[in-house]
Amino acid sequence: MVSRVIPVDTFDLVIFGGTGDLARRKIFPGLYRRYLAGQMPPDSRIIGAARADLTPEAFRETVGAAIAEFVPKDRQDPAVIAKFLTRIDYVPIDAKGDGGWTALADIMRDGVVRAFYFSVAPALFGDLAERLHKHGIADGKSRIVVEKPFGRDLESAQALNAVLASHFSEKQIYRIDHYLGKETVQNLMAVRFANILFEPLWKSEFVDHVQITVAETVGVNGRGAYYDKSGAMRDMVQNHMMQLLCLIAMEPPYHFDPDAVRDEKLKVIRALDPVKPEDIVRGQYLPGGGEGGYLEHAENPASRTESYIALKVGVSNWRWSGTPFYLRTGKRLRARASEIAITFKAVPHSIFDDAKGWLENVLVIRLQPNEGINLMVMIKEPGPGGMRLMQVPLDMSFADALGVDAEDVSDAYERLIMDVIRGNQTLFMRGDEVEAAWAWADPIIDAWDARSTRPQGYDPGSSGPEDALMLMHRDGRRWREIKE
Ligand code: NAP
Repeated sequence: MVSRVIPVDTFDLVIFGGTGDLARRKIFPGLYRRYLAGQMPPDSRIIGAARADLTPEAFRETVGAAIAEFVPKDRQDPAVIAKFLTRIDYVPIDAKGDGGWTALADIMRDGVVRAFYFSVAPALFGDLAERLHKHGIADGKSRIVVEKPFGRDLESAQALNAVLASHFSEKQIYRIDHYLGKETVQNLMAVRFANILFEPLWKSEFVDHVQITVAETVGVNGRGAYYDKSGAMRDMVQNHMMQLLCLIAMEPPYHFDPDAVRDEKLKVIRALDPVKPEDIVRGQYLPGGGEGGYLEHAENPASRTESYIALKVGVSNWRWSGTPFYLRTGKRLRARASEIAITFKAVPHSIFDDAKGWLENVLVIRLQPNEGINLMVMIKEPGPGGMRLMQVPLDMSFADALGVDAEDVSDAYERLIMDVIRGNQTLFMRGDEVEAAWAWADPIIDAWDARSTRPQGYDPGSSGPEDALMLMHRDGRRWREIKE
């Protein structure tokens, strides 16, 4: 199947932090792929900016090297790469100084979309916003893209929002959560709101519980000291997992329109119950598999920061009251797998004698790897032997169902950047959403900080701490197996 590419308007996109890790691994490879797909107008430009004193030629070389490293070999077309690199420029700029800003102002064009990607530490957001205005580079139509982490608590998120708001309106601010750019996450909305099948069952009357899992096999490695200041709750739950929960739990918006969608997500966050201490489990991975444990990497032998978290939360509204949402995420687990599983309730009465092997329907939305959607249904076991039942998946893995190569399913970053150019904020977090998410997360983090309990150790390659299993067992439920 050939994917439809809708061209965007001509743009000048400035990547502050253009020499950084995120720009090299995600932003430039993503932009190249959009160029390759023919989505980027030929006269659009990408301007890297950072303090490093590079010539545009030297910068182009680093971008070429990033494409060589991070774009799959069969997508590397030397002629297209050479043309793409001609669209790239570079200006040395210090966010905290005034040098370089006039040079940037001189090369920006009028009459094209101006977008500024802040791929730098959040401490620099205010400096960038202020200087973009002071030097007349940004105007009322310009857009800025800001990266996570958006604050580390409500207070810091409010401060960041205030600093951005002093120079840009909310309509100009694109807060990235790359989970929202994933094909399957958007498909979750299509499945819910473009089919009559699921929505009538999408409520506590029919849904027993929801599980959201984001499991990683990697540890914190070289980022231990940095990660130790954050932990799984801040790094994953408050943002990515919260967004997934919102998309499952939200009411149908009146239209697929940025504010209509975000209004509904905000209502979900506000309806989240506080999490009781007994409904939360924290863990730290132990040494094993030839690697040090979390504590060795954290460079703080007394650290209580969690590399794993599992929690149970309720959504107090008419639709969801009584249906628990179980969330878990961790590092050094047995497989890299992210999924949402919606487990429906049992049929009210079974007409079959064979109750053995009987299971509830589960709708599994798989984010990675192998993006796709699976509906687990009961059928008759084939062959003679009476009416024996078994569960099978109705499989809609995108690669198979749509006849697309996994590589053709564009990466979240490139899709989101194109949305910025289009001016579509639907898949970006609004300021009040981020603040509401922190207002929910802060008391959970504060309550943990006030206690002296240590996170429970878990073996690398396992499913996480024992207590996390108990969190489900005591409710008569089980986590799904973590597998690729
Ligand atoms: P990084 O590798 O440390 O890069 C930081 C970039 O900022 C470099 O290009 C650096 O270049 C530039 N920079 C630093 N100080 C500057 C200043 N005063 N003025 C202008 N430029 C300056 O960081 P990163 O991993 O790319 O992360 C960038 C942002 O994305 C951060 O907010 C991070 O939290 C977020 N993020 C990253 C990832 C990821 O996978 N890497 C994932 C999610 C979110 P110079 O030193 O030459 O100035």
